Amino acid sequence: MNTLNQLNRQIISCKKCPRLVSYTRKVAKEKVRRFSDQKYWGKPLSGFGDVKAEMLLVGLAPAAHGGNRTGRMFTGDSSGDWVAKVLYENGFATKPTSDSINDNFNLINTYITAAVKCAPPNNKPLKEEIVNCSTYLEKELSILKNIKVIICLGRIAFDSCCKLLHIRGVKFSHGKLFRYRKWIIISTYHPSRQNTQTGRLSWKQWSDIFLNAKRILDEYK
Ligand code: SF4
Repeated sequence: MNTLNQLNRQIISCKKCPRLVSYTRKVAKEKVRRFSDQKYWGKPLSGFGDVKAEMLLVGLAPAAHGGNRTGRMFTGDSSGDWVAKVLYENGFATKPTSDSINDNFNLINTYITAAVKCAPPNNKPLKEEIVNCSTYLEKELSILKNIKVIICLGRIAFDSCCKLLHIRGVKFSHGKLFRYRKWIIISTYHPSRQNTQTGRLSWKQWSDIFLNAKRILDEYK
């Protein structure tokens, strides 16, 4: 536990990517009108959840006015709404909404992190920023020893995991599932508005990913 706390403190104070450090601060200062009365987090975000978790969710990066505002990944934005609801429906969270860091939303047997821990402009991190941040994902994977299922949300998260784990020749697609070493790796479209509002990712497609993860974890019991 101490090791994870130490890592998370290191992440929060990281300044390896000057472009992202400056962007997250700028967003926190300028805000958007609907959140103009709120104090933004405006720093890198560590992962959160159960250190003994068997399931790991890897997102792309915090949203500028979501996690970068609330101080917790997938909290306070539309992607977070989809994540919270599907986790709750499958027994991986204590409630179906994730709005603020003090909302009593707790993960069950799950840890959530992202390939890049700072909100990037237009949700597009640069290659070198992904590489910089991959050392943290690597450390998280080594600390979270009970992980059996890794769900990668979107192509960037999937590619980052594959690169980190030296998995070659596997292309991203929604619903891909394969075993690699001690993990079952599943990829899904990211639940961003861009995907959910265009019909690229339906609720059923999204929900099936987590039903499958639950079934796999149940088989280990
Ligand atoms: S993206 Fe990762 S490596 Fe880059 S500054 Fe943020 S925490 Fe550090």
